[in-house]
Amino acid sequence: MAIGGVHIIGRPMPVRATKRGADRTQLRRDCDVLVCGASFAGLTVARELAGTGARVLVVDRYEIGERQTSACGVPTTWLEALALEGSLRQTFDELVVHTPWTTARWRLPWSFSTFDYRELCALLWGQAHPSDAEFETATVTGRSGHTVHTDRGDLTAPLIVDALGWRRVLSKETAIQPPNARLSRGLEVHPHGAGDELELWIDKRYVRAGYSWSFPAGDELRVGVGSFWPSHRVKEPTVRLAGDLGLPAAGYQGNWIPHQLRPAVEDGVFFVGDSAGHCLPLTAEGIRTALYFGLACAREMLPVLDGHATREQALARYGAFSHSHERKYRWLLNTQHAVGRLTPTRAIAAMARALASERFCAWAFNHYLEIAPPSFAGAGRGRTAASARVSTSAAA
Ligand SMILES: Cc1cc2nc3c(=O)[nH]c(=O)nc-3n(C[C@H](O)[C@H](O)[C@H](O)COP(=O)(O)OP(=O)(O)OC[C@H]3O[C@@H](n4cnc5c(N)ncnc54)[C@H](O)[C@@H]3O)c2cc1C
Repeated sequence: MAIGGVHIIGRPMPVRATKRGADRTQLRRDCDVLVCGASFAGLTVARELAGTGARVLVVDRYEIGERQTSACGVPTTWLEALALEGSLRQTFDELVVHTPWTTARWRLPWSFSTFDYRELCALLWGQAHPSDAEFETATVTGRSGHTVHTDRGDLTAPLIVDALGWRRVLSKETAIQPPNARLSRGLEVHPHGAGDELELWIDKRYVRAGYSWSFPAGDELRVGVGSFWPSHRVKEPTVRLAGDLGLPAAGYQGNWIPHQLRPAVEDGVFFVGDSAGHCLPLTAEGIRTALYFGLACAREMLPVLDGHATREQALARYGAFSHSHERKYRWLLNTQHAVGRLTPTRAIAAMARALASERFCAWAFNHYLEIAPPSFAGAGRGRTAASARVSTSAAA
């Protein structure tokens, strides 16, 4: 199967380049739902609206799957829950955590998998049934009310989603400006190679507050450094870590990572994924939450599309659903601050050793998974996020 030039079985083929020059024709469109951003969050909204008959338009500055935005590690159960296993590269039951004083093996109660970005995006888009949803490449530049401005023209819709990442482009608030904003930063390289361990380093020799990683994914490794402190540069330690592992620093990929929950609705717009600060503090795990809140956002739109709710009701419910996670995000942010402070001390080795206890590790990671549980994916279309949430907590 090929979508936008991406073959989803076997190795990915080169994708069609993003439209340039004369191909970038004028684009003016009225639609029911305008999804800005075609990565994890945006594509999940679109797939959840499939079959509703709504005119869904998805726009991104690049073709679907063209620019990888992460190391692409996710709890395997989430890939299974959304039928995305076709993109899976490697699965790990254990996390190997290095500190300057000890190396600990954390036996996870659920496995973690790496996947291929292009293939996962193609699968999500395939689920959005392209006959219902349309995709166009366009760079979003701003918004006036319910009209979104792009480099190819204006797009209007009563339901607008900002899934454009950390910049929160459709917000009317003051622009988010690193390095002073509440952001972490991450950079990785993708050298050719193989490995069979998911590894983390909490080691001030690479980053004073943050962590470094090596994620094997089939025939490549994703090796990178994330800093909780936005002013700390991550390029030199990323190159050094790759060198220490005997790998060339090839194929850079990096970005700013919001580490604080932001309002998920503003001025009539739904914000999902990094634009709403849905990436989890401490771990910088933002794929699972982009999928989770993408489903929640779309499910709140369904009653609006079939005339049983108003847009304002959907906005209020989705905003409240996102905000109901605030305490857990705050707890993780406080832990992020604590880990950042303790990184140069031996306390970090004690923490790594404590999590080597299978019982403690299972307890901690099961609570962590519950922040955005895979059961939510199966909670079903046609049910709003709030009602699915009630049944999730009732089952817990
Ligand atoms: C180095 C690194 C490694 C990471 N590794 C992991 C990991 O292994 N696991 C994990 O769970 N999380 C990881 N994360 C975090 C994760 O990448 C993000 O939380 C996640 O990508 C958020 O998804 P999203 O769909 O909200 O936004 P994004 O994936 O950032 O997608 C935003 C989309 O909007 C488009 N866009 C942006 N601006 C415009 C514009 N003006 N006009 C049109 N289109 C635009 C972009 O092209 C992109 O397609 C990592 C982050 C970094 C930086």
